[in-house]
Amino acid sequence: MVIPFLDLSRIEGELKTALIAKFSQQLEEGVFSAGKEVQLLEEQIGKYLKSPYALACANGTDALEIALRALEVGPGDQVIVPAMTWVSTAEAVKIVGAEPVFWDTDNHGVLANDWGKALTSKTKAVIPVHLYGRMLPMEPLAAKAKKHGIYVIEDAAQAFGSFQHGVGAGAFSDVGCLSFYPTKNLGALGEAGMCLTSDSELAAKIRQLRNHGQLVRDQHECIGRNSRIDTIQAGFLNVFLSAFPRLQNRRKAFARLYVEELGGIEELNLPTAVLEEEHNVHLFVIRTSHRNQLKDFLKEKGIQTAIHYPNILPDIPVFAQKGVFPNAKKLSEQGLSLPLNPWMEEHEILSVAKGIQEFFSKFKNGLD
Ligand SMILES: *Cc1c(COP(=O)(O)O)cnc(C)c1O
Repeated sequence: MVIPFLDLSRIEGELKTALIAKFSQQLEEGVFSAGKEVQLLEEQIGKYLKSPYALACANGTDALEIALRALEVGPGDQVIVPAMTWVSTAEAVKIVGAEPVFWDTDNHGVLANDWGKALTSKTKAVIPVHLYGRMLPMEPLAAKAKKHGIYVIEDAAQAFGSFQHGVGAGAFSDVGCLSFYPTKNLGALGEAGMCLTSDSELAAKIRQLRNHGQLVRDQHECIGRNSRIDTIQAGFLNVFLSAFPRLQNRRKAFARLYVEELGGIEELNLPTAVLEEEHNVHLFVIRTSHRNQLKDFLKEKGIQTAIHYPNILPDIPVFAQKGVFPNAKKLSEQGLSLPLNPWMEEHEILSVAKGIQEFFSKFKNGLD
């Protein structure tokens, strides 16, 4: 028996048929850049997340870079970034020539409440990350940023489908960034991303930046780049978007099952917030001080798990920053992501839970 962490070759049935039909339709139409699929995707996502402007681009890392450029963040500026996140968040800051200033997370892995202590006269923006899909309270964060005169760029790459007071993750800030990397909750069959904003001028700037500085063909008003989405990916995303509520229900049901099955294990810290609307269950990350032993034990049984992420960013030489980041560090040492995605079957979730129960009962005496 093997339980893969995520196996996208399992996309079957009606969804697979619809994706194939979409591909055929697009071959027939012969439109592979811009066009009605891109327009439809932007309209639908803007409406779903309640963001006035939704602008598709090539990937989530580009979305972050474009957001920073649109807000004119660059050399000499500092940007506050959580110590625990996927590398893109800090990478984009470096790419535009600014300096990421890392701050610790809380014990759920999102930027700690006291991030204001990282502010200096050079701070131009803060990038909260909804790590694992769990939103941090956005209204207080945005209010604090406003008070200090800095921008907020939301890294909502892991949080598509998380909502706070009915508004989607990514729609709370100056610019919100989404990724449609294949492993994300809404994933393309390739690379894609998006910027969200409610400011029409920023929206125009983002449109320019993603398409060679032009809003109108051959009028290059700034130095942009090519970060357009592939029409074919927009088409696939439109198909996945119509199945999204059903797929999310499956994720939630599996998350509930894990919480029920694993609830009695004392040594285990469960991400109980997964059941709330502020969490899209992108990742189901448990914490235990016996993380590595548990990971090996499950591997022996054919159960694949993952670590998001084994290194905190200030410890990575290219981002090196001195300081202590105890919560982020602890998460990197104790966090373990269990397989959870809509392509799994209920019996697989139960097998994973059983493996974990077995580990803790079998080794209880030997573990301390
Ligand atoms: C996936 C991800 C990104 C980047 O998205 P890509 O589409 O892979 O470039 C950025 N930030 C976070 C937190 C992510 O998980």
